[in-house]
Amino acid sequence: MDLPVGSRFGRSDAVADSGILFFSGAPLNMSFLAPLLEAQDLDLAVDAANKRAAELPERGALPVLAEGIVRVEAELAVAREERAEMERSEDELARAVSQIALDIESAEVERYSGKRKDRDEAVAHDVSQQALRDKQTGLEEQEMGLLESIEIVEGRIAEFESTIASHRMESENLAEVIRNVQSEVATKVARLSESRAAIAPGIPDDVLAAYERVRSQPRSGGRGATSLKEGRCTGCRIKLPSLEKKRMLAEPEEALIQCPQCRRVLVRG
Ligand SMILES: [Zn+2]
Repeated sequence: MDLPVGSRFGRSDAVADSGILFFSGAPLNMSFLAPLLEAQDLDLAVDAANKRAAELPERGALPVLAEGIVRVEAELAVAREERAEMERSEDELARAVSQIALDIESAEVERYSGKRKDRDEAVAHDVSQQALRDKQTGLEEQEMGLLESIEIVEGRIAEFESTIASHRMESENLAEVIRNVQSEVATKVARLSESRAAIAPGIPDDVLAAYERVRSQPRSGGRGATSLKEGRCTGCRIKLPSLEKKRMLAEPEEALIQCPQCRRVLVRG
């Protein structure tokens, strides 16, 4: 039986209008549908286990960590580039300082090489040497400043690297938690399915098919069967009209009877 789209739990208009209940009427050897409720308990346990695995909070945390890693890696790349740039400048400064030291030294050698110098030349030499020493001092100060800045950037780099490492470790831990739960759930589902498979053959096919159909409806809460107690559907709580109740009770126990309102398979208790 195909269920009309949009009907409440697959309740057809014909059924709604007539109030006629479905039943298979086929002669079956089953005398009791209680195992259907057992099968339903197992199905609900499988649903709950799968839901637990699907809705693990760790699953939500993983992408947040991954985004964090990407963000910090970008910052790390910028900081590393900054450090490389400063190291290049520092190299240039160091080379310039060395060159000035060589220039000062060679000027001194020249000054005291034995060639006679007049007073003006001597004064010019002293002035030039002082200017070189001042320049050297200035460059050395710049170099010190750069080294301090490099140290600060290195601190940031170390911080970024440590954040990335801890995010990665946390991600691995979360992934392990997820794997463990998935494995637990798989074991549980396998066990439940085994029990379910042992029960299913005892349930008439049409009953099982109707049960599955109703159960698959989003609003059924995964419950395709329910007990009929004191003339009431325990699924939607509707009280059956006495004529319908009488008809149902007259059916063989294995016959498919469904609640006229929620369409759940009714199991007489
Ligand atoms: Zn009902």
